[in-house]
Amino acid sequence: MLKDIDYILWTGDLPPHDIWNQTKEYNLNVIRTTIEMVIKAFPDTPIFPAIGNHEASPSGNFAPPWMKDTSHSTSWIYNELGKSWSRWLPQATNNTVHRGAFYSVLLRPSFRLISINTNYCHSLSWWLLVNSTDPASELKWLVNQLQHAENKGEKVHIIGHIAPGSSDCMKIWSRNFYEIVHRYESTIKALFYGHSHADEFEVFYETTEYSRPTAVAYLAPSVTTYTNYNPAYRIYYIDGDHEDSTRANHETWTFDLETANVPNNEPLWYKLYSAKEAYRMASLRPEQWNNLIDNMVTNEERFEEFYRNYYRNSPVTPSCDTNCKVQILCDLKAAKSNSRHQLCHELETIFKTN
Ligand SMILES: [Zn+2]
Repeated sequence: MLKDIDYILWTGDLPPHDIWNQTKEYNLNVIRTTIEMVIKAFPDTPIFPAIGNHEASPSGNFAPPWMKDTSHSTSWIYNELGKSWSRWLPQATNNTVHRGAFYSVLLRPSFRLISINTNYCHSLSWWLLVNSTDPASELKWLVNQLQHAENKGEKVHIIGHIAPGSSDCMKIWSRNFYEIVHRYESTIKALFYGHSHADEFEVFYETTEYSRPTAVAYLAPSVTTYTNYNPAYRIYYIDGDHEDSTRANHETWTFDLETANVPNNEPLWYKLYSAKEAYRMASLRPEQWNNLIDNMVTNEERFEEFYRNYYRNSPVTPSCDTNCKVQILCDLKAAKSNSRHQLCHELETIFKTN
């Protein structure tokens, strides 16, 4: 077992995706059971969670805090998570966890972790049809946190569930978030998400020419196999405050589901790849991820390796034609949703003219 890890990032979606079978009681039971299992495996390791869309019932149904009617309100999840998360989080986070399952903690001197509730940008949350302007004042709160961090010279990691470039994240929220990341590019060092289940990333750019990379969001591969994936988890190595240090890296572990399912077999975890080595990167800085995207346009072998990792070497990986390749590469360039015309135009042109 991994005894030497400092802390765990847990990016949500604890219930399975059998959405028509879900009830509040069912979800609460899954949340409690899952948390118990993780604590049993990691009794002494701090865990920093973010909330997923499947924690709600019906899935994705997150009423803003102004909805006090208990038959609609989301307080039943926030109260439950408030109770479970309090074992890892300082008391000062109580207020925002109960308001909307988001919080900010100082992990080390000058190093802050901010967990956001991305369900307030989820395009399947019908509450946003009533009012989609920053429900729970979460983005306003985020800006305050980042300003505070900047004033104090802190560096920040942001975790959440739905990455801002996902088509599941509403356009306006996503655009505002992108602007925030641009404004605080020297404070935000990395972002971490789940939701897509694939192993991918999203690069942010400055918002004038969209050419200089400013940040990178890691969408870590899921434990769930849904769909066609082998289960996986990821280990991140981070640098601390050494600006030019090259220690940062990440490695991804998986097992072959088909072999593990043979009677009497056990899952046999193995290291699938390390980012810097697999993708020939000098560091994990945003410009290196941008270079990797450029590289994959022409270097077929590099793209194939990325695509293998995207599915964790799964024997049922679908084949990927040119359209599929363009789609995947465009997703990597688009940390802002519904903005392909802006962020992917150049890349699409290359493929059209080839
Ligand atoms: Zn999700």
